Amino acid sequence: MSNEQLEELRKKLDDINLKILDLINERGDIVQSIGQVKQKSGVNRFDPVRERKMLDVIATNNKGPFKTGTVQHIFKQIFKASLELQEDDSKKALLVSRKKQSNDTVVDVKGVKVGGGTPVLVGGPCSVESYEQVKEVANNHNAKGLKLLRGGAFKPRTSPYDFQGLGLKGLEILKQVAAENDLAVISEIVSPADVELATKYIDVIQIGARNMQNFELLKAVGSVNHPVLLKRGMSATIEEFIFAAEYIVSKGNTNVILCERGIRTYEKATRNTLDISAVPILKQETHLPVLVDVTHSTGRKDLILPTAKAALAIGADGVMVEVHPDPATALSDANQQLDIPQFNDFLEKLDQSGLFKKQTV
Ligand code: PEP
Ligand code: MN
Repeated sequence: MSNEQLEELRKKLDDINLKILDLINERGDIVQSIGQVKQKSGVNRFDPVRERKMLDVIATNNKGPFKTGTVQHIFKQIFKASLELQEDDSKKALLVSRKKQSNDTVVDVKGVKVGGGTPVLVGGPCSVESYEQVKEVANNHNAKGLKLLRGGAFKPRTSPYDFQGLGLKGLEILKQVAAENDLAVISEIVSPADVELATKYIDVIQIGARNMQNFELLKAVGSVNHPVLLKRGMSATIEEFIFAAEYIVSKGNTNVILCERGIRTYEKATRNTLDISAVPILKQETHLPVLVDVTHSTGRKDLILPTAKAALAIGADGVMVEVHPDPATALSDANQQLDIPQFNDFLEKLDQSGLFKKQTV
């Protein structure tokens, strides 16, 4: 074959490539339109019966030289890419996404603005154990000008024999202390049945890592008009975390605060691995405020200050820290909680770093 002939054939191939490209993209446009129709009518994107029919038509009409299996394989790739196109479309439509809302959501917690540009500090014991215990932390909050107090009343413990929390009694203590000290309180709720009740006692409902994909619970907190602090599941991808937030917002409650609290990896030096890059990713992908729980992510008192600085430097809207009047006697997470002098020292050093300025409410 002469060079000239070869060039001519190659030119033909180039033309065909461009024709195929145009046709594939034309097909893509149609696929997107179908995706929108399906989304509106709530129909599943993937339709295996339809796919089988298309593959059968291709088999019947295949004149070769490619084998039917080969041609079907190529078309299956095109079908797969088309499904992905539809998926991208549905992502664009997520209510929590930046694409849907470009400005930051600011969650108002009793006058404290979470996500408004000034970081917040959430501090308090792992578990509510007694009125006196919570009161001591609350008094210190007042002395230090802090407004957000945390404390678990319903504790999701690994062992059923470990302290399960004071339940309703714990919520009552939080409510009383919050009223006496003019604080806002955050506490975890683990059952959809308790959500309505919780709104009468606490200011922010926390959904813990173990319940990030408890979809009935997510729907329940989405159906009340109360701020929700949603923690990332310990083995959840960022995408799964975002979908969990979408469950809440899709039910009508837009007051959602995300909280990175470390994920499980093979690393044993820390309790969990703080996924610090999740913060800017979540800020880019969603319009929701993002906090970092530096206590549960590290499980180490000596890492609370550097990780809090890292969190604020990378753009977190605040940090969460566990503090207990007497950590040695704590009924949960005794090893990782700061005592009050350690907490105050942490606050001072964070203040000196220039990364944290207290909000005046
Ligand atoms: C907590 O904040 O009390 C808690 C149990 O944390 P996590 O759900 O992140 O483990
Ligand atoms: Mn804890």
